Amino acid sequence: MTTQRTLLLPTSVPVVVVGAGYAGLSAALELADAGTACLVVESADRVGGRAFTEQRDTVIDHGGQWVGPTQHHLLALAERFGCPTFHTHETGWHLERWSDGTLARYTGAAPDEAAGIAEYWQVARRLDELAATIDVEDPTSSPHLEEWDSVTVRSWFDRTVISPDARRRLDLAVQGVWSTEARDISVFHLLFYIASAGSFEQLMETDGCAQERRFHRGAQSPALAVAEQLGDAVRTRVTVLAVEQDDNGVEVHTDAGTVRAQRVIVATPPPATARIRFGPPLPVDRARWIQRSTMGDVAKVHVVYEAPFWRAEGLSGVATLYGEGSVGVVFDNSPDDASIGVLVAFIYGDRLRSWSALDREARRQHVLETLTRLYGDRAGAPRDYVEKNWPEDAYARGGYAANPAPGAWAEHGARGWRRPVGRIHWAGSETASRWYGYIDGAISSGKRAAREVLDEEVPS
Ligand SMILES: Cc1cc2nc3c(=O)[nH]c(=O)nc-3n(C[C@H](O)[C@H](O)[C@H](O)COP(=O)(O)OP(=O)(O)OC[C@H]3O[C@@H](n4cnc5c(N)ncnc54)[C@H](O)[C@@H]3O)c2cc1C
Repeated sequence: MTTQRTLLLPTSVPVVVVGAGYAGLSAALELADAGTACLVVESADRVGGRAFTEQRDTVIDHGGQWVGPTQHHLLALAERFGCPTFHTHETGWHLERWSDGTLARYTGAAPDEAAGIAEYWQVARRLDELAATIDVEDPTSSPHLEEWDSVTVRSWFDRTVISPDARRRLDLAVQGVWSTEARDISVFHLLFYIASAGSFEQLMETDGCAQERRFHRGAQSPALAVAEQLGDAVRTRVTVLAVEQDDNGVEVHTDAGTVRAQRVIVATPPPATARIRFGPPLPVDRARWIQRSTMGDVAKVHVVYEAPFWRAEGLSGVATLYGEGSVGVVFDNSPDDASIGVLVAFIYGDRLRSWSALDREARRQHVLETLTRLYGDRAGAPRDYVEKNWPEDAYARGGYAANPAPGAWAEHGARGWRRPVGRIHWAGSETASRWYGYIDGAISSGKRAAREVLDEEVPS
């Protein structure tokens, strides 16, 4: 899937899909299943977008990696294309390094008696109650839209959470799930996102929740299988520069030629969509929604060892770190057969910005010192070390997903979130009602956009 550019683009096709991430590929698969031809054009030299698996000493998932039991679209796709999963390893003691440097061992979601924990759980329950009032199919119908979208999560925590320790825990939760800072998103977006996943616990936890399982061949493997089935309908290394529509159809202008179509599905994250020129210009609500949605800041650092040595010491490999350091959370990302040991460190939000400012050797040193403090000297001598800093990714320019700025849902959400614009339909995990920001949401969004197109009776 690297040299498709060499084929000439067709001059006309019923539907063009822009982007071969999970959203675009799922849209194309839905169309193909319905017997409607389409062409998927993808800027990068690979499909999968923010799901990107590299085979090094073992499978390394640089982007999306987990699938949970309520993520039915992804599970069904994996089943259809024979991509097996396994349970995330979390047996043993988890570690929590508190802001004063002390290290605690715990099992379950968090240490029982730890600082701020009681109020943290109260707030989590309160967030679930408020989120339950949002209709994820029609979020802007919420009677509290204006009120909740005018308040940042930061100011809401400052006003309603008494204990600074509970606030510290909540701040890390926001970084970990939204890959942003509490000051950058509104309470409304936070609540919508929780509703979209089902609960706060769904977002945070492993067993029965979003982090439950991983793919033996990596999270990109179902995407590769879909692309294989779609064959020549997927063209990589082709960038869409402009989309022009009139009463008769759409012209999709790419750096490899122009394709005419009846409909186009744009399945790119909002900041990538903003780089496409639309003619006529997009309506103000859609244009502003796109402009005001910014990608989160996240890096994943994989550190590979001869064996998962921490397991022999009764440790799960899961760690949560408060305080000054860059790393927020660590997971055991070893393969299911534990033939090799892999720790993955997540760095996000403000932590990512300070870590990114270091040179490569200093970044590596920082991560290895952090792991050594958690797991001992052996953690300082890996056989492989690999970083993926998503804000530097030429296509995604961030991750996990884009978050609309405070006020954007209230001002532009009703018309700008995902309503089709003439012959242009919108997909992408940022347009999903369920599991917004996740692979599962990307898949359902692609299917929804394909159904919108099929409802228009596009000729096959
Ligand atoms: C570090 C990280 C960890 C994550 N962890 C998880 C996880 O564990 N579980 C989970 O479910 N989700 C996770 N996610 C989120 C998940 O990966 C994404 O939500 C999902 O993959 C998005 O799919 P998409 O198709 O909507 O967009 P993308 O995957 O971004 O696909 C869009 C595609 O469009 C292409 N494109 C952009 N502009 C153009 C253009 N002009 N012309 C042609 N092509 C273009 C891009 O190259 C890209 O391939 C994670 C993401 C990151 C970055």
